Amino acid sequence: MIQVRWLGTAGIEFSYQGRVWLIDPFFTRPGKFASLFGRVRSNELICDQYLSATPGKIEAIFVGHSHLDHALDVPYIAKKTGASVFGGKSMQTLMRIHGIPDQMRVVAQGDKIDLSNGFRMEIYESRHGRAFFGKVPFPGEIDASATIPLKASQYKHGTVFIFVFHWQDLSFGHLGSAELIESNLSGAVARILFLCAAGRQFTDHFVVRAMKVFNPSVVAPIHFDDFSVPIKQPLVRLPGVNLEGMIREIRAASASVKVITPDIMSPMPLEI
Ligand SMILES: [Zn+2]
Repeated sequence: MIQVRWLGTAGIEFSYQGRVWLIDPFFTRPGKFASLFGRVRSNELICDQYLSATPGKIEAIFVGHSHLDHALDVPYIAKKTGASVFGGKSMQTLMRIHGIPDQMRVVAQGDKIDLSNGFRMEIYESRHGRAFFGKVPFPGEIDASATIPLKASQYKHGTVFIFVFHWQDLSFGHLGSAELIESNLSGAVARILFLCAAGRQFTDHFVVRAMKVFNPSVVAPIHFDDFSVPIKQPLVRLPGVNLEGMIREIRAASASVKVITPDIMSPMPLEI
């Protein structure tokens, strides 16, 4: 059976028979001060801790957008593992300035990527939700002439993607930012839906709209933890994220849906 783990923020790991596929892996979690004023770089020790305990060989990394809490650690993990990276133009810039352009593949609306073991990833273009003060943070593309290490503010979001990961009759939708473009998603379905909690209050009816499009049996909120502090138990939540309110919204949208609040780094109970 496929195993799925939430890695914190929008990070999801799928594994099956010694193969691993990642979405938005992010472990460094630089503090608020570094994020606001300094330049940020991957904490290689923390990434290596994750890599030493992965359930197999990482084949591919999908990046939903290139803000630092989705993209910062991707070049290091890709360099260390040889994994292919799929994302937008800004992610391509990051891979190039980290010296590994050949592992990058730029994707676009409607792409379907065939992976090993019969897995397939569908790609849909989306848009970034609003965050602090109701504004979209760091819009635009990453400056092609930027040099590493970048400031947090240089991690522009670039093209934003929704992913749907398919295997046999299972399908996993991943919305790493609290927005969607319904017209790009016609025909998309996801039995299990990972939904961004951060900033959803700024997008009208985000939860209801996402569930209407994908018609899931299971919904798991993600991106509700405060990624400016290290992972510790109990997990520190983002200020104002109101996870209980989100769970109520999910249940109000469908009486039959199962809600899973994932435990960080633990296999999700996905029997459906
Ligand atoms: Zn973002």
